[in-house]
Amino acid sequence: MTVAVYPGSFDPVTLGHVDIIRRAAKMFDRVVVAVGINMEKKPWFTVEERKELLRSATNDIENVEVVDFEGLLVDFARQYGSCVILKGLRAVSDFEYEFQMALTNNKLAPEIETVFLTTSAENMYLSSSIVKQVGILGGDISPFVPQCVHDEIKSRIKQRSKTK
Ligand code: ADP
Repeated sequence: MTVAVYPGSFDPVTLGHVDIIRRAAKMFDRVVVAVGINMEKKPWFTVEERKELLRSATNDIENVEVVDFEGLLVDFARQYGSCVILKGLRAVSDFEYEFQMALTNNKLAPEIETVFLTTSAENMYLSSSIVKQVGILGGDISPFVPQCVHDEIKSRIKQRSKTK
């Protein structure tokens, strides 16, 4: 059984993430979406919230599970019996860091391969930070996030702006 671990901050999940998960679910027996606990210093959404949003965005895909992780990614991957670390690649800007990480992880755990899926053309520009910026400025985020998480995200953006 091939298990792929797809790590990220997913703060919040976008259509770009869901596209990568959907395509990966066709390639691997099991896709473990791993929400990093310490990946960003000041996330907008708690780990529990990020997992909840990811679960509703992927609940129609059978072989996907969403968990959190902390610490070294290769240790986490080993723990899940995974031999694949899955990454999405948008533009050239993602490449240098991801290339460095892939080589580092390969040194740490040569039995684990990093697999890159290129973004779909329509999601190329999309990131969680862009969604947050548009949302906080009152823009329509529906083209960027799954419909089932749209309202949830909007209401959390509202709560957030009230407490500021
Ligand atoms: P971001 O906050 O920039 O969206 P994440 O840490 O949540 O980044 O991303 C997790 C993974 O998803 C990374 O491998 C990232 O390259 C990938 N990813 C993020 N957005 C997209 C997208 N629009 N298309 C393809 N892959 C993406």
